[in-house]
Amino acid sequence: MSEPLLDILKRGTVLLCDGATGTELQNRGLPQGDPPERLLLDDPDLVLALHRDYIAAGADIIETNSFGANRSRLAHYGLQDRVTELCLKATELARRAADESPRRVWVAGSIGPSGDIMEPLGPLSAKAAYDSFAEAAEALARGGADILFIETMMAQDEAAIAVRAAKENTRLPVAATMSFEKGKAGLRTPWGVDPATAVQALTEAGADLLGANCGRGFDDMVDIIAEMRPLTEKPLLAQANAGLPQWLDGRNVYPETPESILPDVNRLLHLGVNLIGGCCGTGPAHIRKMRELVDQFNEGKRS
Ligand SMILES: [Zn+2]
Repeated sequence: MSEPLLDILKRGTVLLCDGATGTELQNRGLPQGDPPERLLLDDPDLVLALHRDYIAAGADIIETNSFGANRSRLAHYGLQDRVTELCLKATELARRAADESPRRVWVAGSIGPSGDIMEPLGPLSAKAAYDSFAEAAEALARGGADILFIETMMAQDEAAIAVRAAKENTRLPVAATMSFEKGKAGLRTPWGVDPATAVQALTEAGADLLGANCGRGFDDMVDIIAEMRPLTEKPLLAQANAGLPQWLDGRNVYPETPESILPDVNRLLHLGVNLIGGCCGTGPAHIRKMRELVDQFNEGKRS
C-alpha cells in the first residue's frame, strides 16, 4: 500500500496540482457557455488528453472534469438526472490517465458551487444543497477519486454544507477552498467571507485541507496564504488564476504567463503552502514551469 496523500504532505513535501480545466477545454474547442461536463459524453478523448498533458507537465494531482456536475447546475442544461453518470465518467477518465503514468499521480474529484443562492436569500434549501453535494461526492469516490477538492466556494454556509456532505458520505480526505478578491475591506469572497473566517468555518465543517482558488491572480494568492498560514496547522492548497482576464476576440485572455507567475509561486512555497496548482487561465505550460520550482523547493528541504 503506498503512502497516503496526507502523510506525504505532513512530511513537508509540496505536491503539484494541475492547471485549469474549464478555460483550458475552451482553448481546445469547448464553446464558451457550454458546460465542460458535456464533453464527458460528447468528446471524452479531449478530456483525457488534457489529463495526460497535465501529467506530462509534471502534475502530481489531477482534477476530474466535474466542477459543475451537481444537480442545481446541470439543471440548466437538462442534465440534472445524470450527476452520478457524469461524475463516474469524469473519475474514470482521470483515473485512466493517472494509472497509466509511471509515477504516482492522484485523482482529485472536483466539486464546485451549486450555482444557486441558499435560503433565505435564494431558492436553495440546506437539505437540497447537502443532498446535491452528497450525490456528487459519493459518485466521485465510487469512481476512484483519492481526494475531493471542494473549490471556488464563495458563501460560507454552502461551503460548510459541501464539506460536511463530502465527509459524511465518503471516506476520502476533503480539501475546501474559497475564492477571495481584494477590495476596500481587504480580502473577501463575493459573499463577504474573509480568509480567517473561512479557515474557521471550513475547519469546523471537517475539511482536512484548506485554502483558496480562482480569484484574481497569484499576487493576491500570496496575501491570502500569508493570512491563512498562521491560523491553521492543516495543509494549505493554493490554485490561483493567471491574472484577471480580458475579453479579446470572443474569448477570455489571461495575462499571466508561465514565467511571470514564478516569483509569486516561489513566495507561496516559502510561505508554507502544501499543494499548489493553477485555476482559470493556467495550462500545462504553467504547470511545467511550476514543477521546476516545486522540485527545487522540495530538494532544498531535504538537503
Ligand atoms: Zn478559476
